[in-house]
Amino acid sequence: MLKLNGIGVSEGIAFSKVFIYKKENPEIVKKAVKDTEAELTKFKSALDESEEQLDLLYKKACEELGEEDAGIFTAHKMFLEDPEFVLGIRENINSGDNAEFAVKKVADSFIESFSLIDDEYIRERIADIKDVSERLIKNIMGIKEKSLSDIEEECIIAAYDLTPSDTAAMNKEKIKGFITQIGGKTSHTSIIAKTIGIPAVVGVDDIFKRFKGGENIILDGFSGSVFISPDEDTAVKYMEISVNYNNEKNKLKKYTERETVTSDGKKYKVFANIANHHDVSYVTENGAEGIGLFRTEFIFMDRSSLPTEDEQFEIYKSVLESMAEKPVIIRTLDIGGDKEAQALNLSKEANPFMGYRAIRICLDRKDIFKTQLRAILRAGVYGNAEIMFPMISSVEELLKAKDVLNEVKNELKSENAEFSENIKTGIMIEVPSAALISDILAKNCDFFSIGTNDLIQYFTAVDRTNEKVQDLYNPYNPAIIRILNYIIFNGLKAGITVGMCGELASDENFTDMLCGFGLNEFSVNPSSVLKTRRNICLSNSKDNEKKASDVLKAQSSDEVKNILKNGM
Ligand code: PEP
Ligand code: MG
Repeated sequence: MLKLNGIGVSEGIAFSKVFIYKKENPEIVKKAVKDTEAELTKFKSALDESEEQLDLLYKKACEELGEEDAGIFTAHKMFLEDPEFVLGIRENINSGDNAEFAVKKVADSFIESFSLIDDEYIRERIADIKDVSERLIKNIMGIKEKSLSDIEEECIIAAYDLTPSDTAAMNKEKIKGFITQIGGKTSHTSIIAKTIGIPAVVGVDDIFKRFKGGENIILDGFSGSVFISPDEDTAVKYMEISVNYNNEKNKLKKYTERETVTSDGKKYKVFANIANHHDVSYVTENGAEGIGLFRTEFIFMDRSSLPTEDEQFEIYKSVLESMAEKPVIIRTLDIGGDKEAQALNLSKEANPFMGYRAIRICLDRKDIFKTQLRAILRAGVYGNAEIMFPMISSVEELLKAKDVLNEVKNELKSENAEFSENIKTGIMIEVPSAALISDILAKNCDFFSIGTNDLIQYFTAVDRTNEKVQDLYNPYNPAIIRILNYIIFNGLKAGITVGMCGELASDENFTDMLCGFGLNEFSVNPSSVLKTRRNICLSNSKDNEKKASDVLKAQSSDEVKNILKNGM
């Protein structure tokens, strides 16, 4: 038996076999070619193989997503049949290039000339070229990648990292847990694991040296331990922990239909966060009172073209209908940072979390922003939708975003389109500057939702995705406690609703304090809804308020922790 240590980021215990998920990024170099004919044959068979793969992908996508979405694979195939592309590659091979180098050369020259044209359609084609040429190159080089969607046996995924596009395609039924080398409590791997309700451990060093694939392991999402080929004693001990954990989870079920109300009658709301419309089932299963964060950027990821207005409309409508009249806070596109969207063809940045991101992109690319706002407003008539802008850092930014929203409303009005005119409009408070002017911002919107994942990262200057500095990612820092109180105070004073949709909302050590500060709504991962509700129901306002006032006087993180955990 071998024990590895990582950071437990999603609770639970998993027993299963390891599935290694490794993405290959081949280095493409020019090689001396002796046999041009052999290179041409290699290219031709890779071309045929790529076409076959695209046909299969098209068929699968048609069944799962419908013909319109599947169209992207036809577009890719057409590119492989483009005479200019194919002949260009052949010519380069004939002049002495190796096949993979010839593909890269021609693809790069297409991308370079397309990049000079400032046109939405052309930008999307760049993403197609990248995608298709990568496929072709991997086929030439004989690189076979396993996809998470192909998994048919139960397993625990071991990967360097899991990006949103990796997890979007995965077979959730079969995946029992995640282990990754990089990441922190609020990175994508952790959030997705918590949404599905499976254990996850991040920060395991040298992941590809530790596992060979197929070995039995035990994953402890509480402590971050991983046991390879566990001995009998360890297996028995973990069986017991797992049974107890599942019993506890079953006991929580009685809170599914309950109101969230303290023992002395003070009401709160527990909402859930989702990343796509498929997650709604986890929300309703757990009896959340609404959706406090719909991370719509996931609709934009894992595809090479932007979603159309109608496509988005259908998705928002289906979520709203599934939630009946319960509120659904739809956050506008929060791409950038650790979330990439191929279709936007964004360039790499030195500091992506502080760069071209979220509302900054939307105010720059009004075409994308307006399309999304139109879709939300139109879908709004099918339920109780609210709009939320991410990454607001100044009042000007908020006013600009609201101007675009008004512009879109006027356009819809002039088209006589049906839409939700009085939709509530709120903002995320996740940037320190917004927190400090929350009194001003509160006068200009209907609600706040505190994004602690980013707020802590920016406030304490600790990269939320970097496992090397996770010890410094410390919500107990008195600075965080003070700023949270300040934001909630300002929101309530202005008479608006204040929620929290960052991961801190589901941290049970903070629940009483947040109730004491007066937070109205906790938006947590679907798997944390019941526990959060139970903790609120078991608390009472007097104790919560005392905790809230004591913690504000704390002089260190340790003192904060003591007060929150032990009330002293
Ligand atoms: C946050 O920053 O707390 C948040 C909820 O947004 P995201 O994790 O999507 O950045
Ligand atoms: Mg955020």
